[in-house]
Amino acid sequence: MTETHPAGPGRYPAEAPASEALFDRARTLVPGGVNSPVRAFLAVGGTPRFMARGEGAWLVDADGRRYVDLVCSWGPLIHGHAHPEVVAAVRAAAALGTSFGTPTEGEVELAAEIVARTPVEQVRLVNSGTEATMSAIRLARGFTGRGTVVKFAGCYHGHVDALLASAGSGVATLGLPDSPGVTGAAASETIVLPYNDVAAVEAAFAARGPEIAAVITEAAPGNMGVVAPRHGFNQALARIAHAHGALLIVDEVMTGFRVSAGGWAGLDPVDADLYTFGKVMGGGLPAAAFGGRAEVMGRLAPAGPVYQAGTLSGNPLATAAGLASLRLADAATYRRLDETAATVGKLAGDALAAAGVPHRLSYAGNMFSIFFTDADVYDYDTARVQDVAAFRAFFHAMLAGGVYLPPSSFESWFVSTALDDAALEQVAAVVPVAAQAAAAAGHGG
Ligand SMILES: *Cc1c(COP(=O)(O)O)cnc(C)c1O
Repeated sequence: MTETHPAGPGRYPAEAPASEALFDRARTLVPGGVNSPVRAFLAVGGTPRFMARGEGAWLVDADGRRYVDLVCSWGPLIHGHAHPEVVAAVRAAAALGTSFGTPTEGEVELAAEIVARTPVEQVRLVNSGTEATMSAIRLARGFTGRGTVVKFAGCYHGHVDALLASAGSGVATLGLPDSPGVTGAAASETIVLPYNDVAAVEAAFAARGPEIAAVITEAAPGNMGVVAPRHGFNQALARIAHAHGALLIVDEVMTGFRVSAGGWAGLDPVDADLYTFGKVMGGGLPAAAFGGRAEVMGRLAPAGPVYQAGTLSGNPLATAAGLASLRLADAATYRRLDETAATVGKLAGDALAAAGVPHRLSYAGNMFSIFFTDADVYDYDTARVQDVAAFRAFFHAMLAGGVYLPPSSFESWFVSTALDDAALEQVAAVVPVAAQAAAAAGHGG
């Protein structure tokens, strides 16, 4: 570590010369200067920080500024940045060759780890969460011989054409209801329903049941901000889908191996047919998976007729990073993630309450977010009624104090086991200042 003194409230100026220079150059070469839209800071304004490295709980940007990281690469890094065992596993794998295009032992080990922790009987490794949900949908369609998919407004399942309607976070942040380039045909095979609304699901199946291949839902949504499923909601989805011969796909790309050893299924079991995973299972490298009942997975090529493939699927580096991360993630890890999430949420919530800023702390396991509203949030419409100006001011005051939050109020905050006393003290020092900034900028200010 080169910088030893943590920032305090208001230490960093709004100007970030090295990041600004990189962003200017990036914008000439890459659309919008970023390789994934939410990174561009459009929802909060200002220049995205270009990160140079990560050390445990800390991110260090191109200007040498240190931030407590409450994004953790959007979820994957439950052990923090550059954990020595994960880095050693990747180094060792790289030294043996980066890709073979053949089966390897590591893939078998990672599949075994996933099968041992989750309800799935068989699993196929892919490279991104998008690929996992896209493939799960194809498999559900191939298995049922039907075409239509039910999804929920505010749930994000990657940038799959059929699933981009009302897709939360990135899409919400940019104010795009849907995306040009998605055909009417793809959209017409997607039924979008309000989240947490069992009656709407029953009505959709009553009207179009025989054409519905699958219901896909986030195990616990984190892409419209964190909105937990109401008690029994996921189970009702399984019951209704199965009554009509459709499959239930539970998307655990965000929750999987983060909220418990077995993901959301470990906290709130549900009889789903297919599950998708990503983020944590790659340990910070590109790896994802989909899996489920052997009867359904057996339809996948080469065992069955539903085609799915990938040149780099099961990549040895990604597999090594994922295995090292999962093997490190024991009961103590999840206890610590739960405690740390409770601590950080309480620090922020108490500061906002003291400053008189309307807000709702919303948890699903150790994922949480803060909605800048005083109304209940239980679906996408209620999540969208937020005081965005208050969030913006809060975000920038946190950034200036050396705490890196997701740059959108439609995103989960993520903690890691690397958040130690020094990191938590920094958060505690900065939140009162940020809460005052939010109060001054908000509707009341
Ligand atoms: C992140 C995410 C995805 C997409 O994963 P990518 O690796 O970004 O393609 C899909 N579903 C959920 C629930 C996610 O949070």
